[in-house]
Amino acid sequence: MGKLQDKTALITGASSGIGKKIAISFAEEGADVAINYPDASQAGNAEAVVSEINKRGRQAIAIKADVSKADENAEMVNSFIEAFNHVDILVNNAGIGRTVTVDEMTVENWDEMIAINLRSVFLTTHKVLPLMYAQGHGKIINTASQLAYKGAPGLAHYTASKAAIVSFTRSLSLEIADRGVNVNCVAPGATTTPILDGMDEDILEAIRQTIPRGRFAVVDEIAPTYVFLASSDGDHYVGQCLSPNGGDIFL
Ligand code: NAP
Repeated sequence: MGKLQDKTALITGASSGIGKKIAISFAEEGADVAINYPDASQAGNAEAVVSEINKRGRQAIAIKADVSKADENAEMVNSFIEAFNHVDILVNNAGIGRTVTVDEMTVENWDEMIAINLRSVFLTTHKVLPLMYAQGHGKIINTASQLAYKGAPGLAHYTASKAAIVSFTRSLSLEIADRGVNVNCVAPGATTTPILDGMDEDILEAIRQTIPRGRFAVVDEIAPTYVFLASSDGDHYVGQCLSPNGGDIFL
């Protein structure tokens, strides 16, 4: 407890799944947290996370923004700073995952995936980085996926977006490590969350069969890696990708 005492954290896509668990875990470690959610359909879920955090004695706000859109993304960061004054931790976590083979993929499918999963990471980082430079400290954690490394049929657009996040993280780390700010990735293995609802069951079963532990993760097995990287315990990790994945791949 107390690993993130009085830190402030902005977490995108935090109204459900992994992001929600990260938000609650950060609060349990003493952080105040902003819960980003994309649209009105997630407003109730976001408020429920705020309430969970308040119960733990920490401050929280919910911020609606489609993080793939530059204006909404910038407004999200402005609202965060208005509420909390400074930003210690940014978790770029929002994402979608939908299965479609490349021959059937539309340009719109591709563009939507790249915009939400990848463009958003650049947009939020680009806006937050000058604030972290001015403070002289900050932690950025990007959510990739183990599928960035192994690929998956029906998920070429998804895996491309996640592999690009890994590469973006590495290059960015080389620019910022000597300025007190560090950036790393978490590449979760398959984890039971609502994102899997949009995926083909045959593809999920094929992924499940390759996991040495024989099952998907639960969010409680993923969030501790984010706490570690966000805390001073993770200070010497620079441009790395940590992968809680049940043995699915070795990085
Ligand atoms: P999730 O429960 O669906 O969480 C993703 C969140 O991002 C949802 O709340 C989603 O809202 C939100 N989101 C989608 N588009 C957005 C946008 N344009 N702006 C802001 N928020 C947006 O699924 P999850 O599994 O926790 O996913 C979290 C991250 O983990 C994703 O980046 C995902 O790729 C990654 N990941 C997941 C797994 C897995 O097996 N679960 C494995 C590796 C990596 P809506 O529900 O309204 O779309």
